[in-house]
Amino acid sequence: MATPFPTDWRTALVLVPHPDDAEYGMSAAVNRWTREGKAVIYVMATSGEAGIAGMEPEECGPIREAEQLRSAAVVGVHTVDFLHFPDGKLTNDASMRAAIDHALERHQPEVVITIFTGEQYAPGVPNQSDHIMFGQAVNETMKAHDDLWLFETAPSGEIFVDVTDEDVEAAVAALAEHEQYLRVLDPDTPVIEQARNQVNMSTLAADGSRRSTFILRRERATI
Ligand SMILES: [Zn+2]
Repeated sequence: MATPFPTDWRTALVLVPHPDDAEYGMSAAVNRWTREGKAVIYVMATSGEAGIAGMEPEECGPIREAEQLRSAAVVGVHTVDFLHFPDGKLTNDASMRAAIDHALERHQPEVVITIFTGEQYAPGVPNQSDHIMFGQAVNETMKAHDDLWLFETAPSGEIFVDVTDEDVEAAVAALAEHEQYLRVLDPDTPVIEQARNQVNMSTLAADGSRRSTFILRRERATI
């Protein structure tokens, strides 16, 4: 059953594996939240240094971090931490869970949002190993933090945040900041067009309204 995202919180921590993971739909909701005065912080397990074909990790990592900082700023996120785990090789192990725990301690959120951990986005469209491993590490670490809400990003989730045209435009601009990444990914389609297509795909509801959607993994325990 479709349910609105809770509103009685001040700080959300977005924990994702790669630069750009927050930009496929969720950043429209992030723009609404920051416009309404809430704080949103991004923590990335990697710098996405293996993400641009033909580019060495030492060159790629700093480019992708810089793109992510600009992208986050577009939707009002001014704190982005990079944990520097190896892109493409994430495992749900003790050092990963300790780093996640440290991020929770450091930022003291009431809401935690991580990446979709399902095996497939759609039939025949498998999820990435890094997403599943890191998302599972967040889910596991959160067992010791039952005073926090936990969500996953999901294009067809039941928990929704209604967003405005302004939020959608901000989300498109945020994704387009991943310029070098998108240009190499699809050299034939202009970056802004790629960004608009992706954001449309993940925010346009069947009835024409705009929303970002999530899966609720755990409600916060009531005191
Ligand atoms: Zn990713």
